[in-house]
Amino acid sequence: MRKPVIAGNWKMHKFVGDSVDTAVDLKRSVSGATHCEIIVAPVFTALKSVADRLEGSNVSVSAQDCSTEVDHGARTGEICADMIADSGAKYVIVGHSERRQFNGETDQSVNAKIRAVLQHGLRAIVCVGEDLRQRESGDAERVVAEQLAGGLAGLTLADMERIIIAYEPVWAIGTGKTATPEQAQEMHAFIRRRIAGSHSRECADSTRILYGGSVKPGNISDLMDREDIDGALVGGASLDAESFASIVNYK
Ligand code: PEP
Repeated sequence: MRKPVIAGNWKMHKFVGDSVDTAVDLKRSVSGATHCEIIVAPVFTALKSVADRLEGSNVSVSAQDCSTEVDHGARTGEICADMIADSGAKYVIVGHSERRQFNGETDQSVNAKIRAVLQHGLRAIVCVGEDLRQRESGDAERVVAEQLAGGLAGLTLADMERIIIAYEPVWAIGTGKTATPEQAQEMHAFIRRRIAGSHSRECADSTRILYGGSVKPGNISDLMDREDIDGALVGGASLDAESFASIVNYK
């Protein structure tokens, strides 16, 4: 049985005070939720303050990225995974399409970041997904298969227990265009088959695969009804505590 995960990616939004206020409001609104894991990913500067305020609650904290480097050193502007752990966060989002698009993230750097995350005792939310041109040219599965092969290369079955996959078609992120539940289900089932091939059937059956791309209170239940959709990675609709809480309480 896979426990659903609803994760909110706050991207480059909110000062520390607003991040804490949203986290506190959310904590209050979802305090009774036991049917899913709940995660929020604030900006780096707010990680510790948010983690402190959520300590002991059912809401965990994630960073939005980390360095490929495992050790501290001369890497100006980078944040090592153990510094993220030190802030109280438990997860790191790795390979978000915005980082692939604007920051030169590759499957190789995604793989190095996942290894750094795991080595420092954190869990990774690994994003994959095709862009519009790739979908329209019938290349979506090939692209996602390549991202999975490169990103998850060399990871053991034990490593995979600390990995969550997020399928985020780039054409659906922040565009208001959600993949239909059928399109999402089809790709999630494909991802599960790829993990069965690269790791094992058991590993594939226990790996949580989240959908991301314009998830809102109005479309979450249809998505969650599908067999291989184990939750959501939510951008815009996670910025408001009330809207994110109604996504968490999709049941
Ligand atoms: C995201 O940031 O991962 C995302 C899916 O954004 P949105 O929900 O705004 O499309």
